[in-house]
Amino acid sequence: MPELPEMEAWRRQLDGPVAAFPIAKAGPAHIATLKTFDPPIAALEGRRFRGAERRGKRLLFPTDDGELVLVVHLMTAGRLRFVDAGGKAPKSSAFRLEFSGGAQLILTEAGKKKRAGVWLLAPEAAREELAHLGPEALGLGSEQLGEIVHGESRRLHALLRNQHLIAGIGRAWANEILHTAKLSPYALSSDLDEEEIERLAAAIDSELERGLELRAQGASDDKTYRVHRKLGEPCHVCGTPIAQVDFEEHTIFYCPSCQTGGRVLKDRRLSRLLR
Ligand SMILES: [Zn+2]
Repeated sequence: MPELPEMEAWRRQLDGPVAAFPIAKAGPAHIATLKTFDPPIAALEGRRFRGAERRGKRLLFPTDDGELVLVVHLMTAGRLRFVDAGGKAPKSSAFRLEFSGGAQLILTEAGKKKRAGVWLLAPEAAREELAHLGPEALGLGSEQLGEIVHGESRRLHALLRNQHLIAGIGRAWANEILHTAKLSPYALSSDLDEEEIERLAAAIDSELERGLELRAQGASDDKTYRVHRKLGEPCHVCGTPIAQVDFEEHTIFYCPSCQTGGRVLKDRRLSRLLR
């Protein structure tokens, strides 16, 4: 699932190529993928993007005339591909842009459920669409993080994933960050002391930077993650087998020695809590 490191790696990669040529053809778009109809997607044709920007997990492509912004949110299963002129493009797509000269930007989404989204908006509407997002996770710093964790009483894994509070972190990087910070995913944010907040702020930066560097080199999930989806594998710090627990609708991965003082976390699936 693409989060801040993955999307920022994409942004850097796309920034030049998407601005190189004007858009020749916008669409087709899957009816569930394209979330806006006014302005029509064809309004992009003949315009040129200024480059690629990012806000949280979303990519933004503003046109260089300042009139439109294409917003892309990949959700869980969406994937982007930039295919050079003459390159082999996937036949089916959820959304497609073709540039003059023949390069294509293609959004694909595996599975029947189309959850990834594309919005074409005027800049003011794009600002409104993104206004609910909290500050960017990367470079947040301990002072701002302190205000967020003490303003809320939430379990840390849920707090880190809440885009209204902090933008860019999802389940995978929440696992990686909490492991580096040596904090329990179930710890209550309001219980954190100064030293723990500093540790968490440092872990947010170091893990997202590590992820960005690896993703920019094209590293796979397996090579990038050290805790996420590593059930039973030895913790890279202490060798204890990585454990997992179901929490709300997510599976959390953690090291019982590094993070919970040896305690095994109890299942808190939403379906169980509601029973
Ligand atoms: Zn460990």
